[in-house]
Amino acid sequence: MDEAVKELKKMIDESDNIVFFGGAGVSTESGVPDFRSEDGLYHQKYKYPPEQILSHTFYERMPEEFFRFYKDKLLITGVKPNKAHLKLAELESKGKLKAVITQNIDGLHQAAGSKKVLELHGSVHRNYCESCHKFYDFDFMASYDGIPTCECGGRIKPDVVLYEEGLDMQVIEESVNYIRNADVLIIGGTSLAVYPAAGLIDYYSGNKLVLINKSATPRDRQADLVIQGPIGEILDQI
Ligand code: ZN
Repeated sequence: MDEAVKELKKMIDESDNIVFFGGAGVSTESGVPDFRSEDGLYHQKYKYPPEQILSHTFYERMPEEFFRFYKDKLLITGVKPNKAHLKLAELESKGKLKAVITQNIDGLHQAAGSKKVLELHGSVHRNYCESCHKFYDFDFMASYDGIPTCECGGRIKPDVVLYEEGLDMQVIEESVNYIRNADVLIIGGTSLAVYPAAGLIDYYSGNKLVLINKSATPRDRQADLVIQGPIGEILDQI
């Protein structure tokens, strides 16, 4: 085990107030494409750029095209939690980890057994009729061709934060509270490039800020411990 991982293990062993903040890199090891990586969603060919398709305006104006893309690129079936998801769920069940804050929308933390998961960008597992607010699950959306429509005739909208849409204030406030009060804050699988989510870490005032990412991030100098590598492999050693 290398020195940095040993140090991380020590921090985790000694704490019962750990908060984890994760980005796309946590899910890529499960085979979920990273929105921003080289071979990720943003570089795949489609008629419009993904940032445009996944915007509120586009959703309103061209729902058919939106849902074609959404179903094709965001409703990923058959993915399973990886070692990172499983370790975090284990730490929570042992009473060491207080919350997982995630930028991912795939629900893999819950699938791994995590209970306290704050989803900054929503989830593909929650979908609601725009008229009567009836709930629809992932399988319903994945099996629907065209614009998903409720039995009442209303359009069904994924509970996913689109471009131009604001984040859920309640989720933000809760995340801020967990980060502010955390003893150890582990940030993993994110280049910390996306605001406002990335700005959340500024609320942390402790001295055990850990960054785990495959490549360097603009916040590395601010961290107390930096580990470069795949998050699943690193956490699996703990
Ligand atoms: Zn309805």
